[in-house]
Amino acid sequence: MKVRFAPSPTGWLHVGNARPALANWLEARKRGGTFVLRLDDTDTGRSKPEFAQGIEEDLRWLGLNWDDFFRQSDRLDRYSAAAETLKAKGLLYPCLESEEELNFKREQRRKQGRAPIYDRAALKMTSDQLSRAIANGKTPYWRFKLSGRTIGWQDGVLGDRHVKLPSLSDPVLVRADGSFLYTFTSVVDDLETGITHVIRGEDHVTNTGIQIDILEALSGRPNRIHFAHMPLLTDAEGGPLSKRLGSVSLRQFRRDGIEPEALTGYLVTLGTGKEVVAAPPAALVADWDITRISHSPARFDTRQLLAVNRRHLHGLDFAAVRERLPDGADEAFWLAVRGNLDLLAEARDWFEVARGHITVPEQPEEAPLLRAALDALPPEPWDAGTWPAWTAAVGAATGRKGKALFLPLRRALTGEEHGPDLKTFLPLIGRERVAARLRAGG
Ligand code: GLU
Repeated sequence: MKVRFAPSPTGWLHVGNARPALANWLEARKRGGTFVLRLDDTDTGRSKPEFAQGIEEDLRWLGLNWDDFFRQSDRLDRYSAAAETLKAKGLLYPCLESEEELNFKREQRRKQGRAPIYDRAALKMTSDQLSRAIANGKTPYWRFKLSGRTIGWQDGVLGDRHVKLPSLSDPVLVRADGSFLYTFTSVVDDLETGITHVIRGEDHVTNTGIQIDILEALSGRPNRIHFAHMPLLTDAEGGPLSKRLGSVSLRQFRRDGIEPEALTGYLVTLGTGKEVVAAPPAALVADWDITRISHSPARFDTRQLLAVNRRHLHGLDFAAVRERLPDGADEAFWLAVRGNLDLLAEARDWFEVARGHITVPEQPEEAPLLRAALDALPPEPWDAGTWPAWTAAVGAATGRKGKALFLPLRRALTGEEHGPDLKTFLPLIGRERVAARLRAGG
């Protein structure tokens, strides 16, 4: 088995392409196959080196590695050779119509109630007409002559699928400037690099019909590649995700501090109805089964992702995060705060509360309570028993209990209304800071 993930470096990777990336990787790892990263970069106008580099970084961040890598821009001679093969078979033909002419023809057909597909007028062009046009400075672009069959396949996710080629325009494979279109280069690569399974988004279903036709024309053999199309992702409301791609890019999630394990665990369960558990790709292999993916679009909900992230953080050991915690943060600190984090970066704020400086909110009305608390403050060493013993003493001295007792103290000690359990957090702040904050707060 050999699969490929083939992004076009025309933008940052987003969850819509991370999902097939992960699926390809899991399929390869599960079945002892080869996972190839291929950059579809023949669109020189839109491809950018920073996106190409970004794709590799983002995939590594996600926890994916690849066994082989290449970019299509390094294989232009192969595409030229394949184009010549098709020309020799009379299946790639030159066209000269401008975009305006094509638009006009489409409009005419629509008015006549016919499908607005290309009428193949260029096929009737004689070689004399073509030579004259070229002599007049025109350069042809090239279309593939579709066979007119209905192409069917057993889709690895969607089941029985077919595409009726007569209802499609012959696709342009080579532009007038000589550059090749993805529809074509992908087929040449899939054939020549021995790809056995193509797993990609449902938006490519029509392409698959066209590409199988091209593939069979090129190779002269029936197609043997298995195709699987993953239903598209929608946003939380069921609308198209495409409008918000910026906000669901891997880069943005990384910047926001989402753990990659939360994202992979969430992506892999989308559309399966299974419970989401954050996990790195390697831990997802055993349970992976592409046939479990539902045929209908799956909702990608950033709030759910955040909930997965939160749950994941709450269960992480100190060893898993120590390098990403502020200097000096120890296991006791981590265990005290992890249950309060949405994002790991927030640990830094709590470390500041524990060991650094905070702005103590003024609570003049609570001055007697804070003074009583100061008076009752026990000497160190402190442990998990200190908070209950101390607050019991303050309660007895002031007659306060419940929220009226705890909230002013929490505010004075942490500057916040909510936060870690003070039983474990109080010893981390230490007596000196606690005393100073009680004095400042009243
Ligand atoms: N470059 C194509 C894309 O990003 C690849 C699709 C495919 O997997 O064939 O949509």
